[in-house]
Amino acid sequence: MLVIRKKVLIITSIFMIILLSLIAALSISYSSSSSGTPRYPISVVIDAGHGGIDGGAVGYSGKTYESDIALGIALCLEKYFKAAEIGVVMTRRDKNGLYGSKGEGFKKRDMLKRREIILASGADLVISIHLNKFLSTSRKGAQAFFREGSELGKLAAAKIQEQLNKNINLHRSFEALKGDYYLLNCSDIPSVIVECGFLSNPEEEKLLATAEYQDKLAYIIFAGAISYFCSNSKLDVNL
Ligand SMILES: [Zn+2]
Repeated sequence: MLVIRKKVLIITSIFMIILLSLIAALSISYSSSSSGTPRYPISVVIDAGHGGIDGGAVGYSGKTYESDIALGIALCLEKYFKAAEIGVVMTRRDKNGLYGSKGEGFKKRDMLKRREIILASGADLVISIHLNKFLSTSRKGAQAFFREGSELGKLAAAKIQEQLNKNINLHRSFEALKGDYYLLNCSDIPSVIVECGFLSNPEEEKLLATAEYQDKLAYIIFAGAISYFCSNSKLDVNL
């Protein structure tokens, strides 16, 4: 535990330094639109998967739902990005889905609404939060996915995965993988789906259900995103 804490502390310190430098860089180019609304040099879409009648994966205990945990992590993530003066667009900030009426085709309506929000955002990065489930209850850990052919999506996923491996996947490192998912394919904005852990693993399910672990996951994903922004030469971030 001590080793783990030390590692997390070191990573945390390194990223706080990077973060402070980034904020300093951002504040130089920070400007306002004519309406007085702040125009952020960098912005992200945070997508909490599922919601409403679509609870997503159900935990091993039968008491936890992917939609609730994804929302918890997404709200923590919003807090970190806002503190860094990075613009944030949330696809949802409460337990409701985005489908409108619950009738037939609700899932399609839900996904189309998310696409609409992403396309209107003009964001530099989309981060979609999900939880995994598998037949074997021993599988655990967090993994990032990107769209095949999206070089920047791949880079963002790799940077987030690097942080997840250093701080969460201490038993075994994962590689960021390409995935054929609607959220990754629905826009040309670099997009990453983060499967934050396995609800089918009883120990990981217990961790994922706590506010502390959700906050920790959010900070790690945030650190990965900052690392991506700093290594993406197409963004106007001079460190
Ligand atoms: Zn999901």
